[in-house]
Amino acid sequence: MYRKDCDKCLRSSYSSSEFGEWACPICGNDLTNHPFFDAITFERIHVNMSSKKLKMYKQKDKFVND
Ligand SMILES: [Zn+2]
Repeated sequence: MYRKDCDKCLRSSYSSSEFGEWACPICGNDLTNHPFFDAITFERIHVNMSSKKLKMYKQKDKFVND
């Protein structure tokens, strides 16, 4: 179980999957690129997925180009 904190409404949301997009259920803020935390211990989790890393780099490049 994962937890993410929304920086807009400051609420926490939970999911059992690290895949796919993650939107805040309260305000709809896109939390997809926010860090994962363990829902029980609140420790930050470093999700080790090369495909996700590539996606994040692509999005970063997009921001630079825009
Ligand atoms: Zn929110």
